Amino acid sequence: MFGLDAAAPSGLPSAELMHLMHSAAGSQWFRWKVIMWSWVRRLGPFDWDAFQVSLKEAEFREYRDNWEAKRSIGWAGQNPENSSPQWLFGVCVPARQAWLIGRSIVDHELFHAVQDLQSGGRLFRPAVPLRWSGDVLVEAEALVFGSPLIGVPFLGLLLVCLAGAGWMLWALIGVFL
Ligand SMILES: [Zn+2]
Repeated sequence: MFGLDAAAPSGLPSAELMHLMHSAAGSQWFRWKVIMWSWVRRLGPFDWDAFQVSLKEAEFREYRDNWEAKRSIGWAGQNPENSSPQWLFGVCVPARQAWLIGRSIVDHELFHAVQDLQSGGRLFRPAVPLRWSGDVLVEAEALVFGSPLIGVPFLGLLLVCLAGAGWMLWALIGVFL
């Protein structure tokens, strides 16, 4: 949920979303997830000061209409209206108000900004477009570490499906040998 085919939010600036994302960024839970990610990836300490500066300068917008909201649900990336680096965020109202998972979606988009900072700004402003394998890695990380409530069940289900498919293949090979 950052770019790809998703539409950038082009509606009015949202003070409510700004408040929501700032308080999520300041929470121990979010910081703990980023620390875990940095530790797993052996990235060294994360620059929270630089993160806060970029977040303060970021724009937070609503979606212009339902069509735009449905295309991306949540969005994090470079503000297309600014030629200098500036983060832009959007999370549609029903998604961010959803019980339990709303916060997870907010954290997910915020985590993409963490990834962008750690990449030296190359995630949101790539010199060459990311390869699909890079996209998948970025999304998987943001799902597991940024929004585990969504990511962990999703990846768990995927693993169960893969294990099931593997078992069926093994059983089929057994039948034909
Ligand atoms: Zn995403």
